[in-house]
Amino acid sequence: MKLSRRRFIARGAAAASCLPLAPLTASVVEASAPAAGKQVPAVFRSRLGAFELTAIGDGYWPRTVDADFVRNADLMEVQTALRMAFLPIDVLHIPITALVVNTGGKLVLIDTGAGGRMAPTTGMLTENLEAAGFDPRAVDAVVISHFHPDHILGLRNRDGAPAFPNAEVSVPAREWAFWMDDGEMSRAPDGQRWAFQAARKVFGSLRDVRRFEDKAEIVAGITAVAAFGHSPGHMAFRIASGTDQLLSLSDAAYHPALFVRHPNWQIASDMDGPMAAATRARLLDMAAGERIRIAASHFPFPAIGHIARARERYRYVPLDRERAM
Ligand SMILES: [Zn+2]
Repeated sequence: MKLSRRRFIARGAAAASCLPLAPLTASVVEASAPAAGKQVPAVFRSRLGAFELTAIGDGYWPRTVDADFVRNADLMEVQTALRMAFLPIDVLHIPITALVVNTGGKLVLIDTGAGGRMAPTTGMLTENLEAAGFDPRAVDAVVISHFHPDHILGLRNRDGAPAFPNAEVSVPAREWAFWMDDGEMSRAPDGQRWAFQAARKVFGSLRDVRRFEDKAEIVAGITAVAAFGHSPGHMAFRIASGTDQLLSLSDAAYHPALFVRHPNWQIASDMDGPMAAATRARLLDMAAGERIRIAASHFPFPAIGHIARARERYRYVPLDRERAM
């Protein structure tokens, strides 16, 4: 510190005698650290009763905001909502966050990110798991909320090998029934067919995939909550330890700037729009009424907080970091 300061002054003084402007710039560049130009690993830890939760970022998926983005709202209204959240109005960077739950008995991963296959800005899950001190081989259970590619592609590494080789994989029974059905695939719109193919690629050769129904306790302390609409078998999860509870919304409220403020809006990827909106209202109401914590797949990182009622709508309140542990 002393040395660099002395050097800074010496250079400045020497140079000042002949060139008054250039040396100052040169000294300042040398004296400061270069900008890193990239984000630090997205990892956030919190406690829930005796459980330890770690939110793990997978990156983000940049999605154009056009007239089709929200099915039942004018583009101008959508742009106003984005502006109110200080977000760009033409593209939404959709964060993708998975949740690790250490129950003490089991290390559980809920959803697996996009595996870097949907955009080069995704696929950071493994790297960030390692940054959080987790060995992917130590994951005992992987629980999937639904079969949209940004939740399942991370089940496999880029070379196709299972990313969590020792984990038991559990999926919603209704999702399996829909996405693995050849008839449904043949009737699907063209834009959706690749999601069917992705599901087959991901799950096809896995030896054992457990299927769970609504209200099933998948792992001790983690219970399925039917949240159908976003996809046919889409599930939320209630995570409970002692008297502490968290409702993991999965994609039921998508991004808070749009769908917590306007729960009746339907995003293009809500496969059954009216059902998704009804589910959204039910879960937001449940979280607000019970004052329990929520997590969500596409809220800004770390995507953990609370839902408050705000007149006819709702408001997302991120968790205070100092209250997390
Ligand atoms: Zn999603």
